[in-house]
Parts: sequence; C-alpha cells; structure tokens
Amino acid sequence: MKVGKTRKRKKSDGEKNMFSGLLVCADCGSNLWYHFNQKNPSIEYFNCSGYNKGGRKICPSTHYIRLDFLEKVVLGEIRRLTKLAAKYESEFQKLVIGQSTKDAEHERIYGNRPQIHAGEKI
Ligand SMILES: [Zn+2]
Repeated sequence: MKVGKTRKRKKSDGEKNMFSGLLVCADCGSNLWYHFNQKNPSIEYFNCSGYNKGGRKICPSTHYIRLDFLEKVVLGEIRRLTKLAAKYESEFQKLVIGQSTKDAEHERIYGNRPQIHAGEKI
C-alpha cells in the first residue's frame, strides 16, 4: 500500500472555510471566494467572485476582506448576541412556556375534532 495517494490536493481557489458560501457581495450578489496569499498562506481573505470573472467585470470592486478581520467582526457580533440572549433569558422563557401552555389549552378545549363549518350537512 502506498502512502500519500489519498492525500488531499490543495488548490489556491475553492479551499473550504467556515465562511465559504455564507458571504455574498453587497454590490453584485456574487459569492465571496476564499483565498490565501500564495507567499504567506497565513494571510487569508475573501473577495468578490464577480470581480474580474473571466475578464468581464460584473462587480466594480474586489471587496477584499481579511479573514482575521472578518472573524473579529463576527466574534464581536456573537458576543453581543449572547449577552443580549442572557439579558432577556427570562422573557424568552416566559414567551416559549406561555406559548406551549396556550397550545395545550387549545388542544384540551378543541381536541383534534374535525371542524364542522356552518351550512354543511352532517
Ligand atoms: Zn461584487
């Protein structure tokens, strides 16, 4: 058995990243593609796939965005949201519990009987 045959081929384009497929260009609606710097692979970035696509520019800008910057922004947003969720946890629970109680009550009163509409012959 030869070792190394199943090794994954690495491509400069199309490399997967957790943000791949999630980012869309605000200008042209194209997906943002993941790349990394050929000379320094630790520099990872996204840019608009619509920019310079096969020579025809459907997007006016590359929309170059560094991955580390993106992560900082996303992490900040997650922190903000988790803080918000913690702050409103009791309200959120009330809302969820209240709704399921309402549903149970509705089922108790009306059950699963088929509804008979006015004018229909029984
Ligand atoms: Zn674009």
